Amino acid sequence: MNTLADYACSNATCKGRLFHEPCPEYRSEYQRDRDRIIHSGAFRRLEYKTQVFVNHEGDMFRTRLTHSIEVAQISRTIARILNLNEELAETIALAHDVGHTPFGHAGQDALNACMTDYDGFEHNLQSLRVVDVLEQRYAEFDGLNLTFESREGIIKHCAVKKAPSIGDVGERFLNHTQPSLEAQLVDLADQIAYNNHDVDDGLRAGLISVAQLQNVDLFNEQYQNVIEKYPDLPERRMIYEVTRRLINNQVVDLVETSKLNLKQQKIQTLDDVRAQKNATVLFSSKMASEILSLKQFLRKELYQHYRVHRMTNKAKQIITGLFSAFMDDIKILPPEHQKNARQYQEQYGDKGQARVVSDYVAGMTDRFAITEYGRIFNPSELT
Ligand code: MG
Repeated sequence: MNTLADYACSNATCKGRLFHEPCPEYRSEYQRDRDRIIHSGAFRRLEYKTQVFVNHEGDMFRTRLTHSIEVAQISRTIARILNLNEELAETIALAHDVGHTPFGHAGQDALNACMTDYDGFEHNLQSLRVVDVLEQRYAEFDGLNLTFESREGIIKHCAVKKAPSIGDVGERFLNHTQPSLEAQLVDLADQIAYNNHDVDDGLRAGLISVAQLQNVDLFNEQYQNVIEKYPDLPERRMIYEVTRRLINNQVVDLVETSKLNLKQQKIQTLDDVRAQKNATVLFSSKMASEILSLKQFLRKELYQHYRVHRMTNKAKQIITGLFSAFMDDIKILPPEHQKNARQYQEQYGDKGQARVVSDYVAGMTDRFAITEYGRIFNPSELT
């Protein structure tokens, strides 16, 4: 563990857990949080959830699990350089996607559309719901009973109208203040990870080409450096040499800009961090605009590629089909979800039933959703 700066989160400044528990004997509060995430069922299921490419499209592509591990690696590097709490950064990174539906953003959009009349579905809120309510493994409480700081980091974004429903971690969205620096850095480490691994996966899948990427400044600059130094490098090695430089470049920019911001905002303590109207951990404006161009490229050429779009459409059909089937007849839900659906229905009406159905659907892996769809809609399939 590195030496912590005064503005880092620490055991001493930890705001505690929803249910009081004594401090762990040999671990820090955030090590305990991280360990609870790693042992959770929702974390294990990330292995079979889509990042961009559906799991069965190939074994080499990122899944939500390998994405989360990459985010944790980048987050720890940044945390250590800035003397922030590496264990907290790692915890937030590993937990940040546990609320994601199967089939990536297509799944989230489809489930949100299904939930329009029932308060909607949003993956950040769902990640918090997973760690606060849905993981049920402990005798004394529902959820994983994580610290305030881990929960604050998991809820990266939240609409103002939803903020009151999540209690203490929702306050900053109403007051327009900032979360810890650890939470801020994981948010950007997430972007560094997915922008760069989507380039790598997109190239590997043959959906985008190096020739196209040469029009993207961020990529081209590193590409030129690599081919100048190694003109005869085989393409796969060349791509790796470019992506490692891309990641390093963005991390260095983020660290240097954030160090400057810490000085300019005169940040001494964690309270100073939280009181800011603007974030402290940021990219330089040049880097931010280059990253934006890369994102725009990926959106147009990769995420909307016809082959990705075909899968996206199938994903919508599966999610929408499952949701309506369970809403129409809760008797086809497995017993424990059926019991919850009845209880929630009694307490909150149709909104309650819809929430239980969306919890069940959101928790599915890609392959479980595909199989479940077959079991429900294909008359010749055994259930
Ligand atoms: Mg992510």
